[in-house]
Amino acid sequence: MKILCVGRNYSEHAKELGNEVPENPVIFSKPDTALLKNGEDFFHPEFSNDIHHEVELVIKISKMGKKIQPKFARNYFTEIGLGIDFTARDMQSKLKEKGLPWELAKAFDGSAPIGDFINVEGIDLSNINFSLKKNDEIVQQGNTSHMIFTFEEIIGFVSQYFTLKVGDLIYTGTPAGVSKVNVGDKLEGFIEDKPMLKCNIK
Ligand code: MG
Repeated sequence: MKILCVGRNYSEHAKELGNEVPENPVIFSKPDTALLKNGEDFFHPEFSNDIHHEVELVIKISKMGKKIQPKFARNYFTEIGLGIDFTARDMQSKLKEKGLPWELAKAFDGSAPIGDFINVEGIDLSNINFSLKKNDEIVQQGNTSHMIFTFEEIIGFVSQYFTLKVGDLIYTGTPAGVSKVNVGDKLEGFIEDKPMLKCNIK
């Protein structure tokens, strides 16, 4: 399976990092070794002093497809979940300055905690609230109405380049409020009021 991620999909987050709002989705990927499942702990790596949490809704692909038109994209997933796109911001800033790929800052082991999934049947995909608490305080809140590219547009875009296979995950971008995590922090993610994800920083 593969993990595709969208960068800068919420304009308030793009602004907080001083990035322009993109014309096309910004896409990067992570290997399956980035996944942390079932509330596994995240062990803070030594190569960074500035790991940020980015809470994101995650599409789970349920049907193989390529060159999917956005109007048919809804047929290619039945569930969405919540994940974190951990980012070594200090390294990413250096890589961006040099125009280099982001993998080392984005795709390292444990950089993609994934929580529970919910069935999307009957859910209005354009109005889903999600949030992240750090040590019991809300730090990020998003609503899919603020996405620059919708789930359907993201699937349409990435499937022009990558065949999507059953089980592939697409992290769909983070809202504003990203911040540094420290050893001892406890992260908890929600879709609406439902707890979906837990990750402790060790
Ligand atoms: Mg992200």
